[in-house]
Amino acid sequence: MKHRSIHIGVAEGAVHAIRELKASSNGREMCGFLLGRRGESSIDVQTIRPAENIYEAKESFAISEKEYADALETCRGTAVQIVGIYHTHADSARPSEQDRRSIALSSLVWLIAGQSGDGQQEWRCFLQDGGTIREVPMTCEPTGVHAPAPATPSLDLHIIRT
Ligand SMILES: [Zn+2]
Repeated sequence: MKHRSIHIGVAEGAVHAIRELKASSNGREMCGFLLGRRGESSIDVQTIRPAENIYEAKESFAISEKEYADALETCRGTAVQIVGIYHTHADSARPSEQDRRSIALSSLVWLIAGQSGDGQQEWRCFLQDGGTIREVPMTCEPTGVHAPAPATPSLDLHIIRT
């Protein structure tokens, strides 16, 4: 079966918010929800809703069922829905084994905001499609959901395309 091509556009404000959370994380993984709209060929992330990482361990994260329920409730009756989950890595944006298990169980986009060995931002998006985990291209959208994708990302994100 041919994979549908899908693209993730993340509003610049949401990118900034994740970057700021990551910068203040003190090595802990930060996590939360990506809110926006899901279309046939694109997923538009308009804003984020931070969530508490309920894990003590530095290199993992979990969101409580209550926060998930609260986020769903907040979106009810609005134009946005939960389209994904973001979390940060202190190192590479490669999904951990635990990440892969969680992505495989989910219908949401997973955005991992990590950094490469030379300190560059390295952000990657994944989703589960027909039982396999796929990496999907992501761009930073300067003015929101309907802006055309910039020729080059306007921030110094190191975006990996597959
Ligand atoms: Zn992870």
